[in-house]
Amino acid sequence: MDSLSSKKIYIETYGCQMNFSDSEIVASVLTEHGYLITRAIQSADIILLNTCSIRDHAEQRVKKRLQQIRVFKKKKPDLTIGLLGCMADRIKNVLLEEEHLLDIIAGPDAYRDLPRLLDQVESGQRGVNTLLSLEETYADITPVRLGSNGVSAYISIMRGCENYCSYCVVPFTRGRERSRDARSIIRESQELVGQGFREVTLLGQNVNSYRSNEGNDKINFARLLDRIASINPLLRIRFATSHPKDISDELLETIAIHPTICRALHLPVQSGSNRVLSRMNRKYTREEYLERVETIRNVIPGCAISTDIISGFCDETEEDHQETLSLMAQVKFDYAFMFNYSERPMTPAAKTLKDNVPREVKERRLTEVIGLQQKLSFESNKQDLGRVFEVLIEGNSKRSADHFMGRNSQNKVVVFPKTTAGPGEYVQVKVFSFTSATLLGETVQ
Ligand code: SF4
Repeated sequence: MDSLSSKKIYIETYGCQMNFSDSEIVASVLTEHGYLITRAIQSADIILLNTCSIRDHAEQRVKKRLQQIRVFKKKKPDLTIGLLGCMADRIKNVLLEEEHLLDIIAGPDAYRDLPRLLDQVESGQRGVNTLLSLEETYADITPVRLGSNGVSAYISIMRGCENYCSYCVVPFTRGRERSRDARSIIRESQELVGQGFREVTLLGQNVNSYRSNEGNDKINFARLLDRIASINPLLRIRFATSHPKDISDELLETIAIHPTICRALHLPVQSGSNRVLSRMNRKYTREEYLERVETIRNVIPGCAISTDIISGFCDETEEDHQETLSLMAQVKFDYAFMFNYSERPMTPAAKTLKDNVPREVKERRLTEVIGLQQKLSFESNKQDLGRVFEVLIEGNSKRSADHFMGRNSQNKVVVFPKTTAGPGEYVQVKVFSFTSATLLGETVQ
């Protein structure tokens, strides 16, 4: 191993927060084996792309990037190129046949095996492992915080998903649902507080179905949150992503009693039409979703709600689309991630439904959804004018070195002139202006 110790690894991450958290696991496994992590691709001996398959666009980006990386390989023939993450298993065979550029292909459950795969490359072979696991949670691996601001950190609490929404590739690329041992999550949270971090974001495809056993004790997500909230009053807690069918009253009451659990829930609805929700196999109706939203607003006043919307799903009619717009207007989401339906191979929708909404109709509907959400986000920020929020300082504002940026409990970015306080500290900020994405304010005592 000594001969390898100076080898530098450059990790490039695509897609969701889960992938960023995974890249920190990859960095930890490899630094444990003597590799160094570099942020300069030019000085890398090994380039690893951690990929996403959620939409075709994400995969096209990676394929384009591989063509660019081919140039580095020409200049540095010993360069090792690896592809990790959700694309690994999904297009392994294509990649191996077409992409002679690749030396390593490793799926989301194979990161412990990376040192062995790199050894295989050293001895002139390719390293491939895309096996999915029923147990793997990397619970004993302390992530190496990549590109961290030293204030907020991700903690992956579970892996995989078994909801099988008909459009989604995740159950096939990340495997069965498994929750990490609660004690290891508590330990990691305590260590982060000790290192000066003041915010953790708990990650999972559907954190609400978190389940862990401690002897006869069953720890669900509400109890896990309660435990983390009891670690230190300076530690803020966020989490993503929630599935609307698993938002329990117990969870909402737990959030309500702990001010350090942030007042921001990401609750993907995807569509406002029951016909479409049923074909998506989302397992809730429009009415059930709205009932949860009403309960959230009653139990946790002032809670921000964000969502995901898919426009143009199979057989979506104009009436279905209008139902999505009317649901958005009724809920008044604070912000949303909005995309056109992108058919993913292997998914139930690809096998049983037709991607039959014409592209121009999909685009027109998506434009209307985005247009409406921009109005809703603007209104949401407008309502914050004159209000005072507790903001956790994360660092300098991108636009001005004389300003700090941070976020309030509702996960809104707040920018304000620098004060004596610094990153990792809380300040009270009064909002006097806003843009569609940011609140502008001044600190008050
Ligand atoms: S809940 Fe549905 S959309 Fe989310 S990861 Fe699981 S299968 Fe995919």
